Amino acid sequence: MAASPRPQLAVLSQGRAAVYEEPSGPSGVRIRERPRTEPGPGKVAVAIKAASINHLDLWLAHGAQRVTPPRVIAADGAGVVEASTVDAWRPGDEVVVYPVVCDWECPACRAGQNVMCPGFGVLGEHTDGTACELFHIDARNIFRKPKDLTWPEAAAFPLTFLTAWRMLTTRARVKPGEKVLVVGAGAGVAVAAIQIAKHLGARVFATSRSEAQRKRAIEAGAESAFNSADFSKAVREATGGVDVVFEHVGPATLGESMRSVVPGGRIVLCGSTSGVKAEIAMARLFWGQLDLLGSTMGNAGEFQAVLEAIDQGVRPVVDSVYPLSDVEAALRRLDAADQFGKIVLSVS
Ligand SMILES: [Zn+2]
Repeated sequence: MAASPRPQLAVLSQGRAAVYEEPSGPSGVRIRERPRTEPGPGKVAVAIKAASINHLDLWLAHGAQRVTPPRVIAADGAGVVEASTVDAWRPGDEVVVYPVVCDWECPACRAGQNVMCPGFGVLGEHTDGTACELFHIDARNIFRKPKDLTWPEAAAFPLTFLTAWRMLTTRARVKPGEKVLVVGAGAGVAVAAIQIAKHLGARVFATSRSEAQRKRAIEAGAESAFNSADFSKAVREATGGVDVVFEHVGPATLGESMRSVVPGGRIVLCGSTSGVKAEIAMARLFWGQLDLLGSTMGNAGEFQAVLEAIDQGVRPVVDSVYPLSDVEAALRRLDAADQFGKIVLSVS
């Protein structure tokens, strides 16, 4: 039987919701009303206070993700438990959503490797998402909201901090005192990387095309920030080469990233916003003893570690907050790439 690789599709986005309806870019995402129901067994109903958007939502809106509409967008959400079918959560509990879709039951999930689940996916892409008033989800996807965060901050961190945390810890194994270069510093995941690398005791550097974003990167904890054009020369002059490059841009920057590291350096990648294929200088890879490390999202245990880092003072950066009804304007801001940090939708 052609079983769905994602058995856990019972995520339900209810009430007013931002729905991807046609691949026309931001204008293809519209506010619609969906019926409300009680949560099924093992599920929790969360009244969403805030959701945040990621580049993924923009690709979806442009029709680049091969997702058949309609689909409620957004992976990130925070809110208050409205109804629960499990003992762990009660109405009134303030929670955030772990943005990974998985079955929670396969050998990988049981071993704590949710990212290796055959049913692995992302909320708002492989299921309906969090940009809605009431969100029903598996109770295992619910975590306590860090108490010091505002609702927009609580909705701002899950996907980007989870992604950056796994990249810098599990994958690149950043150690205190190491030099980490974060390219494309305005993106939400890059801003998260600056803060996490700093938290891990690394020396942090950044690149951006925009002077305003370079200034913000320094305010967020980078020692210095370089113009994106041919950045490797400036990086090597200033640092002698970095130990780790945090990459999410891809073809436009990968060559420069590989030229920015010391021998034995690591380049860790979670995305490729500038295109789907890149050419690499093979000799630089093997002669330089370099590691190219792929990564996406993170495990529930890594999400827990992010929550602990936030308790220790790491703070997400919110670029701007739009009411849910202005989701099109929020997507346009992301499309313009002028943001620094996360663009949040205020739901209630
Ligand atoms: Zn699984």
